[in-house]
Amino acid sequence: MKILIVEDNRANLMVLSQYVENFGATVLPAADGETAVRSFAAERPDLVLLDVILPDIDGFEVARRIRQQESNGEWTPIIFLSALGKDEDIEQGIMAGGDDYLHKPVSEVVLGAKVRAMERLIQMRGSLVKMASELDIANQELQRLSASDALTGIANRRYFDEHIAREWRRARRNASSLALMMCDVDNFKKFNDTYGHQAGDECLRRVAGAIATSLERGSDVAARYGGEEFVVVLSETTIGGALIVAEKIRHAVHALHIPHSASGSGKVTLSIGLAAAVPELDDPADSLVAAADHALYQAKHNGRDRVCRAVPALEG
Ligand code: GH3
Ligand code: MG
Ligand code: MG
Ligand code: MG
Repeated sequence: MKILIVEDNRANLMVLSQYVENFGATVLPAADGETAVRSFAAERPDLVLLDVILPDIDGFEVARRIRQQESNGEWTPIIFLSALGKDEDIEQGIMAGGDDYLHKPVSEVVLGAKVRAMERLIQMRGSLVKMASELDIANQELQRLSASDALTGIANRRYFDEHIAREWRRARRNASSLALMMCDVDNFKKFNDTYGHQAGDECLRRVAGAIATSLERGSDVAARYGGEEFVVVLSETTIGGALIVAEKIRHAVHALHIPHSASGSGKVTLSIGLAAAVPELDDPADSLVAAADHALYQAKHNGRDRVCRAVPALEG
């Protein structure tokens, strides 16, 4: 333990230093305020014993400057040394950032006890800080988990609902086009029936991966809508731009070459419905979802493994 002792009286400084060394701590001596502030910055002691009256800046100012040097979450105990009968020194010392006080002349026993009490506070505070940081990490993980789909690892329905509502409002404010894609695995019931549900799960994981890796912009979001259905939200994108992304996704799923003997093409494919809109004042975000859903229905109706766009009414 390193203890900074700030005391301009040489005799007092020597006595205090001896006490501190007697209980095994290292002494950093300072005979004036400026030296104390510099020494604190350079050595970062574990505790400061601080005289009030010093030849240059007083102890209160030293305490304030020490507190300024501490970054967020840092704390070094400061014990003021006050002459007997100077109660206002004590009050002012605590106001300036001090944690405790000792009357001069200081008794070795009392000094030892106070330092140990401060050590205990440092330890308790350390474990609190550690706990807070662990809690912070756990919270971040919880937040990540609550937004992601357990099977595929991409965003989940809850995240999508919040995201689309937010992006819809933003698009309305900016009068920009928001595009939405509904993707549905073709004949997936038959896939499960043929290969089993575990293979089905693996297929969904790979399809989700193909969708996610087809997106290039950081603002593009892919989510699992439910079952074998996925959604993609493309901010500031027109139907033309979305069409290109949709074809890219459809081809990426082709390129997975997941065998599907009960499907016409012999492998797993995706049908995609597209819609884009510049939101009008009264349009709910649901209208975009409904339009994309309707386009998906068209894609299925027209033979699957294709991209269909919504009727022009909702295009941006
Ligand atoms: P379509 O081409 O018209 O979309 O036909 P489909 O068979 O894909 O559609 P349908 O809605 O009839 O069947 C969807 C199937 O997806 C049924 C369900 O068992 C399966 N499914 C939904 N969620 C999961 C899942 O998490 N894992 C697995 N393995 N299968 C799932
Ligand atoms: Mg003094
Ligand atoms: Mg479906
Ligand atoms: Mg399907």
